[in-house]
Amino acid sequence: METTKCLIIGSGPAGYTAAIYTGRANIPTILYEGLQPGGQLTITTEIENFPGYPQGISGPEMMDDLRLQAERFGASLRSGIITKADLSQRPFHVTVDDGTEIVADTIIIATGASAKYLGLDDEKKYAGMGVSACATCDGFFYRKKVVAVVGGGDTACEEASYLAGLASKVYLIVRKNYLRASQIMQDRVMQNPKIEVLFEHNVTGLFGDGGVEGAHVVRRKGEADEQHYDIAIDGLFLAIGHNPNSEIFREYLDTDETGYIITQGASPATNVPGVYAAGDVADPRYRQAIVAAGSGCKAALEVEKFLAE
Ligand code: NDP
Repeated sequence: METTKCLIIGSGPAGYTAAIYTGRANIPTILYEGLQPGGQLTITTEIENFPGYPQGISGPEMMDDLRLQAERFGASLRSGIITKADLSQRPFHVTVDDGTEIVADTIIIATGASAKYLGLDDEKKYAGMGVSACATCDGFFYRKKVVAVVGGGDTACEEASYLAGLASKVYLIVRKNYLRASQIMQDRVMQNPKIEVLFEHNVTGLFGDGGVEGAHVVRRKGEADEQHYDIAIDGLFLAIGHNPNSEIFREYLDTDETGYIITQGASPATNVPGVYAAGDVADPRYRQAIVAAGSGCKAALEVEKFLAE
């Protein structure tokens, strides 16, 4: 059993920023990095909209820098996943997957969100054999091949544009008759000759021997002119949004219907005093690195105030 003043769970921009602040405030801090140290940004190519990088910066590079900065101010960074949390009384007790027990006066939950899947049996059947939720991780395997991206948001447009640089052709499968991505991302997609946007389409299944060879799609599902057909593809990429990683805390913390942790107005305070939520796990709306970093900062300042009181 180990005790700490502050436990930070998660290693995205929210977690590392919180650790920079608690470290500089001399608050003994342990940070658990989870399954994917650096979080979602480590599977992004270029970050062009984080202030201070006029030429952009790669996701992994930015996260390495944030990690070093957190370490510089004394946070103890650990690999491991928190599997259980008891927030019923202070100090809080949490259990790590290696069996370690941590007792913490305050907790900052910065566990982020994970990619959603369509829920098709074929997604499981072809997992790692043509189905992916991360173009920048797996795109390399589809050089000169044909792929499809599902989704109509910024992530889908970004992934389609990225894959177009590798693959011979990219279908972007959008269930509505419009893209909800920002205008600049839409323009990039629409102007890319390698990308074909299939509006009002849904994927209903996949087929292939030993790997994906194609997808069953339906056009204008439920309409009088509904049409079913197949497209030949070598890979399917999901880019349809995310689920917040809040499961182990839901017994104690207020969440919305999707599981996003509800915080108190502009503060990252949760309904349990001493427990704060920062970054995407509490942010269904903005989900931006800069916003996550800002909320990590706020959470750390709240921790400092809470411990002083
Ligand atoms: P979004 O929630 O914005 O978009 C999800 C997309 O997936 C929508 O087009 C949605 O369709 C579609 N979708 C959802 N479920 C299904 C389903 N079951 N079948 C088919 N399609 C489905 O998620 P994103 O990940 O794209 O973006 C999340 C946030 O991150 C946004 O705020 C975005 O702006 C931001 N972001 C910013 C980037 C940047 O600035 N560089 C890069 C990436 C993300 P529908 O429209 O019909 O609901």
